[in-house]
Amino acid sequence: MRTPLIAGNWKMNGSTELVEAFGQAFSSAVLPNSLEAAIFPPYPYLGAARAAFAESPLALGAQTLNPHPAGAHTGEVSGPMLREFGVQYALVGHSERRQLYRESDEQVHERLLAALEVDIVPVLCVGESLAERDAGHTLQVVLHQVGYVMSRLEPAQRERVIIAYEPVWAIGTGRTATPEQAQEVMAGIRAYLAEFDRGLADGLRLLYGGSMNAGNAAELLAQPDIDGGLVGGASLKVDDFLAICQSAG
Ligand code: 13P
Repeated sequence: MRTPLIAGNWKMNGSTELVEAFGQAFSSAVLPNSLEAAIFPPYPYLGAARAAFAESPLALGAQTLNPHPAGAHTGEVSGPMLREFGVQYALVGHSERRQLYRESDEQVHERLLAALEVDIVPVLCVGESLAERDAGHTLQVVLHQVGYVMSRLEPAQRERVIIAYEPVWAIGTGRTATPEQAQEVMAGIRAYLAEFDRGLADGLRLLYGGSMNAGNAAELLAQPDIDGGLVGGASLKVDDFLAICQSAG
């Protein structure tokens, strides 16, 4: 019922050459029938990626966006610009944005609204730090991040959101959450969403992120509340990302 999504977040990595390699490989690849796959490259590669992915099932995502549609915001990129480049998804609140660029829940909320405004599907990223997990605060932290944003949306807006659970301690560390650890938190998120609306909870897609790779993806994706993956490092290698997509069938 929930179409799986495998999203590749290239972060500040990649090249025109890598864009071309993904375009070529995915244009002839056989993917599971009901699968959405998307690459989130750095902004400068969006134009080239749009062209290179045209004959492939790969959709385009952005890693963040400015809340304003235009204006004096040097260095920033807006939702309408991304839309013009065929971007279908945008990450909001990635832990690296929250940590390195001090993005608050309020700013994450504003960015998410800016994405919805131009019909870009926001992927709201949430996750606890190692200290928060060790203190037993995982669900409290994650549900605060989810709740801050979801409680400020209209019901029709909530339905368009995707949530990615990325434990901060699992990002780029090679230390994946076990399928049971991930499932436990994601079931908690879904139960929380059911407090808004059972239909919302049943339909909303939840992605797992954090050291997902070709070796562990199938087991994670087999969990009942995991509807896809947000892949960092392993999305920079064509074969690995393809294998992850194929294990989502
Ligand atoms: P890694 O897959 O490299 O751990 O990164 C996960 C991530 O942050 C994706 O957004």
